[in-house]
Amino acid sequence: MPTSPINLYDLSVADLAELMQAWGQPSFRAKQLYRHLYVLRTASPQEMTDFPKALRERLASETALGGLTLVKRLVGDDGMTRKVLWQLPDKSPVETVLMIYPDRATVCVSSQSGCPMQCVFCATGKLGFLHDLTSGQIIEQVMWAERELAEVRAAGNQDVPQGLTNIVFMGMGEPFNNYDQWWTSVERLHDPAGYNMGARNFTVSTVGLVPGILRLAEASLPINLAISLHAAQDDVRSAMMPVNKRYPIAELIAATRVYTEKTRRRVSFEYVLLKEENDFPEQAAQLGQLLRPKGEPPLLCHVNLIPWNPVPGTPLGRSDRRRVLNFQSVLREHGVPCTVRVERGVDIAAACGQLAGE
Ligand code: SF4
Repeated sequence: MPTSPINLYDLSVADLAELMQAWGQPSFRAKQLYRHLYVLRTASPQEMTDFPKALRERLASETALGGLTLVKRLVGDDGMTRKVLWQLPDKSPVETVLMIYPDRATVCVSSQSGCPMQCVFCATGKLGFLHDLTSGQIIEQVMWAERELAEVRAAGNQDVPQGLTNIVFMGMGEPFNNYDQWWTSVERLHDPAGYNMGARNFTVSTVGLVPGILRLAEASLPINLAISLHAAQDDVRSAMMPVNKRYPIAELIAATRVYTEKTRRRVSFEYVLLKEENDFPEQAAQLGQLLRPKGEPPLLCHVNLIPWNPVPGTPLGRSDRRRVLNFQSVLREHGVPCTVRVERGVDIAAACGQLAGE
């Protein structure tokens, strides 16, 4: 049976050194190769022209710059939102979305193919869990986004950033369910000797896996944390997100407090508004009391209200603007900082909760 080529993005500098040594190459080659991958972002071994021809050929035949196969690319918002559908070798889907603004460019990366968490409002959850991605498969999504951005600039649009400014782990999957591979990708992408993305430019979004939150509280890099909350009442939240039965709201908030006290960093709570499910003013008041409890210090947090994006095949409705603004003003009356997320990518099903490998 043919073996799949080695995904070079799966390898650390030490792994690359081992590979180059096994191939009889001088020791400086590993660093050169690492630089090609993460600093120069060379697209193929043939373009590594400072390498001997035989090495380029061997790299081309035994390794690959990635492990995902691109099957579809969609462009929306006048070219400023781009979504790509990848496949794993068994054809399981993975999706990545790039959003370009004049002052920033954000890539939304998947950490798994499908997702086991089954949130009712989410298209990805309907696929069920298919695979954990490797760190290299996570990293190559970022490299794809850099190439897309470079293409936009090369096409004459200079009104876009020089490179990605933000990496958010909000695509398919629950990153804390694939913690080790996900964290390896963060550390690699952060490496100042390589790609060099600032820690504060990463955001991980979790459905509320308490062990992951506590683990991140101890992590060495100060990345941002977003928690999908979506309700302040256990019955409402459990109906929307089965994970709430495992980690109910009180436990989740307690873990969040540990995190904010340890890191002194503000957490974002994501709140998808579903019409007449979780968007009543009384529910906003309960959320306010949860995050600003009387007699306790306020939780260091911010609420991001997200008008729900339609997912075919669900009976759920979208909160209209009046309900959204009303919810926001009740939360503000409780002293909770709160914004409404500006939407992107709805026309190409690239918005939050719409990734379903279609
Ligand atoms: S919202 Fe996130 S955690 Fe929930 S099913 Fe969708 S991808 Fe999974």
